[in-house]
Amino acid sequence: MTLEQLKKDVRNVPDFPKKGIQFKDITTIIADPGELRFMRDRLAAIYRGKGITKVVGIESRGFILAPALAMELGAGFVPIRKHNKLPAETIEVSYEKEYGTDTIQIHKDALSPDDVVLIHDDILATGGSMLAAVELVRKLGVKKIYVNCLIELEGLNGKAFLAAHGVDAECLMGIEVDE
Ligand code: AMP
Repeated sequence: MTLEQLKKDVRNVPDFPKKGIQFKDITTIIADPGELRFMRDRLAAIYRGKGITKVVGIESRGFILAPALAMELGAGFVPIRKHNKLPAETIEVSYEKEYGTDTIQIHKDALSPDDVVLIHDDILATGGSMLAAVELVRKLGVKKIYVNCLIELEGLNGKAFLAAHGVDAECLMGIEVDE
């Protein structure tokens, strides 16, 4: 198994969910047992030894690998969810999307100042949702935050956008947005 192979196996679905979007579909690579394990192992290798105590996944495709990664790192899993999905007391951050505003939430007691956090999502596009997730975790005052995505959509400058806000994001592979 190689990253090149994995990259080839991400399915591109044109015009989903609307015309002009090249949707990068990871269901093809998570359905393959070897590729699923490869992704978990490669990600774990990057973050092992960094003292990560919690892996935070962003709803919903961040929930696929984050718990597997957490178990591999000996960490816990914490969900960031869309508005009104979490049952206990939450804090929230709102951010601008292409159309309108989105709000994401995390349980107020999910993280503590001693936590070293890895935030994970499947795809980094413009970086807007990841920055909102980082701001949410920052509000809880954790010790350190690492940021990771499976795929960076190259050409959208998501990494540079995050860097401008003091966030260093690491992605497993880059795919051209129009590829
Ligand atoms: P952004 O906030 O622009 O970085 O968008 C990132 C979020 O939107 C991630 O949760 C992705 O799963 C999703 N996303 C954005 N663009 C795509 C795309 N071309 N294919 C699949 N998912 C995407």
